[in-house]
Amino acid sequence: MDSDCQHEFEFLGEQKTDEGTNKYFRCTLCGDVFVFPPNSDIAYKIPGRKD
Ligand SMILES: [Zn+2]
Repeated sequence: MDSDCQHEFEFLGEQKTDEGTNKYFRCTLCGDVFVFPPNSDIAYKIPGRKD
């Protein structure tokens, strides 16, 4: 039930781009990775691997 995950974010790191700095977080509960771009509050979700 990924849609019910409350997402405990763990900071992974940053990546500098021409527009700013992307911040990467991973949910310690479901394993999904989220990218927060520099000029947006909307995170991109990268589905995590279910190992
Ligand atoms: Zn989660």
